[in-house]
Amino acid sequence: TITTRSPEETILLGEKIGSRLKPGAIILFEAGLGAGKTTFAKGIALGLEIRETVTSPTYTIVSEYRGRLPLYHIDLYRIDGDEEFENLGLREILDGDGVAVVEWSEKMRDISGYDVIRIRIRTGGPNERSFDITGIDP
Ligand code: ADP
Ligand code: MG
Repeated sequence: TITTRSPEETILLGEKIGSRLKPGAIILFEAGLGAGKTTFAKGIALGLEIRETVTSPTYTIVSEYRGRLPLYHIDLYRIDGDEEFENLGLREILDGDGVAVVEWSEKMRDISGYDVIRIRIRTGGPNERSFDITGIDP
């Protein structure tokens, strides 16, 4: 468990993780609203040498960025049902060689068979967040 005490610290943590990611990596967040998923994703983007500003994909559902590896930043908050899931082309993204970062991944039904990194975020005080990261190579 790693605890951060500001959004900037969370971005640095995300950057460290992002710099180590390999092609095909899938990162699933388990965290509530305002926990810091998008903030962490901004750091991952820095670690992937993406210069563009990463914004919340809540309305676009999938945002794609180019860096050392392509980043697919996905937010399933507004999605319900399998049909929409299939129509988004998520299967192709998960099977591809980019990095997929998924907010509200609870809505993904069938991810068995994929090697995933899970990040659980717990909120302490207003500026404190604890990150439990599993599935990443030591
Ligand atoms: P989510 O995508 O999980 O809904 P966001 O990353 O969009 O969350 O928002 C996180 C909010 O929490 C931001 O307003 C951010 O400023 C605030 N915050 C406070 N402390 C932290 C921290 N240590 N790490 C990340 N975000 C923090
Ligand atoms: Mg978000």
